[in-house]
Amino acid sequence: MALLLNHVEHVYGKGTAFEKVALYDINLQINEGEFIGLIGHTGSGKSTLIQHLNGLLKPTDGGVYYNGEDINEKGFSKKKLRSKVGIVFQYPEQQLFETTVLEDVKFGPKNLGLDNLEIDLRSYEALKQVGIGEDLLDVSPFELSGGQKRRVAIAGVLAMKPEVLILDEPTSFLDIRHKLELLSILKKMVLEHHTAVLMSLHELDLAQKISDYVICVHGDLSLIHISE
Ligand code: ADP
Ligand code: MG
Repeated sequence: MALLLNHVEHVYGKGTAFEKVALYDINLQINEGEFIGLIGHTGSGKSTLIQHLNGLLKPTDGGVYYNGEDINEKGFSKKKLRSKVGIVFQYPEQQLFETTVLEDVKFGPKNLGLDNLEIDLRSYEALKQVGIGEDLLDVSPFELSGGQKRRVAIAGVLAMKPEVLILDEPTSFLDIRHKLELLSILKKMVLEHHTAVLMSLHELDLAQKISDYVICVHGDLSLIHISE
């Protein structure tokens, strides 16, 4: 498995008076079993970069390739790609829309066309992994705290068992205990399932501790690789 960004540029409102270069000449390859930290100040392009990785945004120049195939070519199945490349968005509200916590987590695996038993197994396991107790399964996601919403959103993506797991600032809203638990879940996914993880976060020191390597985006500057 390889997910490649090749000279990716993203300009919002290109050709208008509000033109904004959010990404410039980004080259990046994500391989199986890699843990990559993505840092950058607010507005530096982290979320924009992330949304290119499963085709939610299209580069205004350059290309995104999954196993050598251009994901923005006609005929390429974005649905299939999104079952392999799972994204936990920066704001969990963008991700939660079902009537109960359990239904929300089941949504992803259901879309994969799995049988009911497998859907249940994966959903309960994922909820357990993120520390959401049985008492919350039938609650509306909108009644949860910020940290609980975040953990349910993460469970929904974990339950899909993606090849690449991308998390946009997942540690915000989490208290220290759940932050550490999340990092250990991610490490385990890398070690046991060779999942590739790309995670954006604010703290460079934390990023360096947990990642194989760290990249830094900075708006109209090309990607900066930071080695340990
Ligand atoms: P980060 O996630 O690092 O905070 P973003 O990727 O959200 O950064 O934003 C990068 C830049 O692009 C910022 O200057 C932001 O204001 C701008 N931007 C983000 N989304 C849009 C949009 N939908 N339309 C116009 N500009 C946007
Ligand atoms: Mg962001």
